[in-house]
Amino acid sequence: ASIPQPLREIWRKLSASEFTGKEQFQKEVVRHVETTLARSIYNCDDNAAYSGTALAIRDNLVIKWNKTQQHQTLQDQKRVYYLSLEFLMGRTLDNAMLNTGLKDTAREGVSGLGFRIEDIIDQEHDAALGNGGLGRLAACFLDSLATLNYPAWGYGLRYRYGIFKQEIINGFQAEVPDYWLDFNPWEFPRHDVAIDVMFYGTVNPGPRDDHGNIKKVWEGGEIVQAIAYDVPIPGYGTDCTNNLRLWSSKPSGGEFDFGKFNSGDYEGSIRDQQRAETISAVLYPNDNIDAGKELRLKQQYFWVAASLHDIVRRFKKSHRPWKEFPEQVAIQLNDTHPTLAIVELQRIFIDIENLAWDEAWSLVTRTFGYTNHTVLPEALEKWSVPLVQNLLPRHLQIIYDINLFFLQSVERKFPKDRDLLRRVSVVEEGTPQVLRMAYLAIIGSHKVNGVAELHSDLIKATIFKDFVDIFGQDKFTNVTNGITPRRWLHQANPKLSDLIASKVGGYDFLQDLTKLSVLEKYIDDKTFKKEWMEIKLAAKVKLAKYIKDTTQIAVNPHSLFDIQVKRIHEYKRQQMNIFGVIYRYLRLKEMTPEERKKQVPRTSIFGGKAAPGYWMAKTIIRLITAVGEVVNQDEETNCLLKVIFIEDYNVSKAEVIVPASDISEHISTAGTEASGTSNMKFVLNGGLIIGTCDGANIEITREIGEENIFLLGNLAEHVEDLRHQHRFGKDVVMDLKLREVCDAIEAGRFGPEQTYSGLMSALTTGCDYYLVSDDFSSYIATQDLVDEAYKDQDGWATKSITSVARMGFFSADRAINEYADEIWNIEPSKIEPRS
Ligand code: PLP
Repeated sequence: ASIPQPLREIWRKLSASEFTGKEQFQKEVVRHVETTLARSIYNCDDNAAYSGTALAIRDNLVIKWNKTQQHQTLQDQKRVYYLSLEFLMGRTLDNAMLNTGLKDTAREGVSGLGFRIEDIIDQEHDAALGNGGLGRLAACFLDSLATLNYPAWGYGLRYRYGIFKQEIINGFQAEVPDYWLDFNPWEFPRHDVAIDVMFYGTVNPGPRDDHGNIKKVWEGGEIVQAIAYDVPIPGYGTDCTNNLRLWSSKPSGGEFDFGKFNSGDYEGSIRDQQRAETISAVLYPNDNIDAGKELRLKQQYFWVAASLHDIVRRFKKSHRPWKEFPEQVAIQLNDTHPTLAIVELQRIFIDIENLAWDEAWSLVTRTFGYTNHTVLPEALEKWSVPLVQNLLPRHLQIIYDINLFFLQSVERKFPKDRDLLRRVSVVEEGTPQVLRMAYLAIIGSHKVNGVAELHSDLIKATIFKDFVDIFGQDKFTNVTNGITPRRWLHQANPKLSDLIASKVGGYDFLQDLTKLSVLEKYIDDKTFKKEWMEIKLAAKVKLAKYIKDTTQIAVNPHSLFDIQVKRIHEYKRQQMNIFGVIYRYLRLKEMTPEERKKQVPRTSIFGGKAAPGYWMAKTIIRLITAVGEVVNQDEETNCLLKVIFIEDYNVSKAEVIVPASDISEHISTAGTEASGTSNMKFVLNGGLIIGTCDGANIEITREIGEENIFLLGNLAEHVEDLRHQHRFGKDVVMDLKLREVCDAIEAGRFGPEQTYSGLMSALTTGCDYYLVSDDFSSYIATQDLVDEAYKDQDGWATKSITSVARMGFFSADRAINEYADEIWNIEPSKIEPRS
């Protein structure tokens, strides 16, 4: 459907161009308010002003986006496709303005029209298509891929409902659906990109193929259509604007069944439509828990099938031979959620494109890379064989073949080791049999990576040990996670970004974060230090205002802000934090007024969602809110201790919370947190960390120096022994400090003790799997060190500045360059700026 050659010059002459300057921007805003929104000067509120601004900015973005896509198509070089079931994007407008360099123009422009840019930005609903770290990582990676000019696409699902909105009712979490699509200017429906995806059906013998084998024909299933919705992803300081393609499901061949409709079965006629639309309706709200639900498997296959169809179609446009597929296409699997992509590509090659098995398999394995995100057993995906048999019968056959050929190769290498074959088989025996998706992902990929050094070492030593023996060390690598400094410093903390820029020679550090090291030169500069601490205080004042506005509780911005915001999970140990708060409260209650005067005032701030079915996590939230109810009202102590639970933690709230920490907590049981990324965000914003030797905390320590972090607790290498002692040891006595805390809870000081019985018994009869009692006294002692250090504000400022200066390594740009060099083998391709 392209325009004929002779007419193209006319099109080029008429081609849309970007606005420049304040007046043109204002003209565009007003035009959009009046025409696209059909509003006027009489009914333009903040929301309409947001829409007009977003549409104006979007126009410029789309021009760059089109140009990028045309450029990448003409270049026809290798692309990377990032498959992630979650993209936790947050808001887009502010980021788009900053990345395209239009923020100042927009600020002045809307001000001239009677609006404040901050109010306009605040109108936007978060795009919350993710649970936590994994989804936010995908979003940071997209930002870096575009900023570094890599030809890259993200592929995901367009959930109608993102992660639920959390409300706290009577101290307990309640979940409210998050319908976010009322007005979303950042997506473009591509109704012409509609792909049929089949489920169920049967596999029947067909004609012989070119190799003389009887073909397998998968037919007779239910067909659902995948419709593409495209989201532009602007790079910072470049025209490169990549594409995030999200799939939405709808019934194939029409809205509803007219046969049923005409025969009076109205309900029946829309049932199929609803069944189809259900597939992309809702994000599963579990973080690090595998629930094994059929609809989730349907989501996975629907997304993977549509994405691969699209990728293969794009490859075929250039008429290259199949053997060049891995030279043109790299596909990264963000966790095991897209593992079926491996099977689907093999199916496309052998069943549809008639390649021989071995040739196809060689192309497949050279195409895929797999990122592991967890060693937690409850998070490792397993699918029941009968479920897969029913939903994807042909894929199950292919999985069996992949497994058979793999086990044969293992047997050749390690003859007679029956137990090894049992251990590494994709099929785990049991009732029912289940498929171990991580094993399939390893077998079908050429590289497997963990997300922090400790984590990458752990997967090689534990859950994937046999695979290291089989495939060798080289298949396994590490890429330590990173974060985008554009959103997490420049956007979230503009004052700090400006101060840094004034010292390190401009804003280039946002594209080369190692330039932060220049800050170390100013460590003795009194004025600089003062400005630095004033910016921190201003961020705390802003958060205190937010807390007052939303909870009516006043907190003192001069108190030490101690923040733990992340998904609520036993392994992340918010329970240890709140037990520590209770311990502090008990001590304060015992003190004389004189002793109290010497204490450092503290505000303990929590935030995070619990998976709706995760009872223990919900109990932890209840304990936090209950402790807050008691402590915040205690006149004797509440100038020294307040406890806040911030409702509905999400990306846009993180942007307010992260700049405001003095201390943030990353206190997972050693060996359980794969990386963590909020730890990096807090340090980059001048907050210090109290944390365990886990995930990326270890590398943060290596970079910033042990003197700048408060480490606590047992090491990963001791965890197994400690757990063994809890289970089988005889005289295990609970830590006395923790005993005191439990006694207070059990005495009903924070409401009916039965509310917390599950939490209490996890420590005792549950054998304290997360080792709270083993780390508690170290935790308390380390918190005392934090208090001492905070009394020396100058020393604290030194730690804060030094840490930021040494955070260059944690840019997502570094991570993406490592993926590009070591795993994807792709090159950047710069788009020439418009003249
Ligand atoms: N949830 C949100 C909204 C985030 O912004 C982040 C990271 O910044 C996370 C979760 C991940 O936090 P953590 O690395 O502490 O688990």
